[in-house]
Amino acid sequence: MKNTSLTSRPGNGLARSEIPLADLIHVSEKEEPPSSGFQACSNGQTISPSLPSTSLNFQFPFKPKKVYSFPISPSSKIFYTNFWPGTSAEQWNDWQWQLKNRIRSLKDLERIFELSEDEREAASQHRDSLPVGITPYYASLMSRTDSQDPLRRAHVQVGQEFIRSYGEDDDPLGEDGSTVVEGLVHRYPDRVLFLSTGFCSTYCRYCTRSRMVGSTGKYRFGTERWNAALNYLRSHKEVRDVLLSGGDPLTLPDDRLDWLLTQLRSIKHIEFVRIGTKCRSSYPRGSLRIWSRSFGSTNHG
Ligand code: SF4
Repeated sequence: MKNTSLTSRPGNGLARSEIPLADLIHVSEKEEPPSSGFQACSNGQTISPSLPSTSLNFQFPFKPKKVYSFPISPSSKIFYTNFWPGTSAEQWNDWQWQLKNRIRSLKDLERIFELSEDEREAASQHRDSLPVGITPYYASLMSRTDSQDPLRRAHVQVGQEFIRSYGEDDDPLGEDGSTVVEGLVHRYPDRVLFLSTGFCSTYCRYCTRSRMVGSTGKYRFGTERWNAALNYLRSHKEVRDVLLSGGDPLTLPDDRLDWLLTQLRSIKHIEFVRIGTKCRSSYPRGSLRIWSRSFGSTNHG
């Protein structure tokens, strides 16, 4: 997962929303896509997905290209024509189409790849967190026939995944021990890790947070947790750098991400907000997707 960094000092004209989170994100929850595990608001109302009043109005020095002018490689086109017949270029370039059509099961894997016995067995045994989840675009970059293809090895389960060696831990970075409120890891004085969601566009077999992505188990992501983390940050002035991660924050609906970023940027002592995301590689036009999420016009992604 790569970090996208936004830097800005307080007083740069960003919106300062005072709207409570609960008033903004009481959309009905679907397991996926995106962002499984969020709690619906108690009043159960539904809201419009666009919340312009909380937009950040970031100014970037370039204008992203229009959606459909983005080139699709011949190999991608052959791939989706074969496996998702009837799919248009517009759909292929649409991040939500990519999420909805992810490869999620042994049946899906068998439809795309020539599986080895090891892969088949591992996929049929797997339960709980870190399920298989691969966007069609990302699958198109993998070898269909070679189970040793590095990208495929990183995303399709194998039996070794179930072997637990001495010293291995569900929490290999020891983040749970530095968790100050649920979802907020404060290990170094001036920076924190803010875990925003348990959902990712594509699940990596090497994930150091495999315990909490896909199927989140005891780990919960929701409005209460976000608010508790924000309250902690407001009262800890030594924190100047927030790494927003998860799961993948760029799978959050625009209104939720926009709200969270706005709240973070309204805390005067926070100077940096970084976003850890895999969307740069798992969507077509992934880099553009980053800039189009909450940072500018949304009609290009
Ligand atoms: S959090 Fe998601 S995208 Fe990041 S490494 Fe883990 S599975 Fe991959």
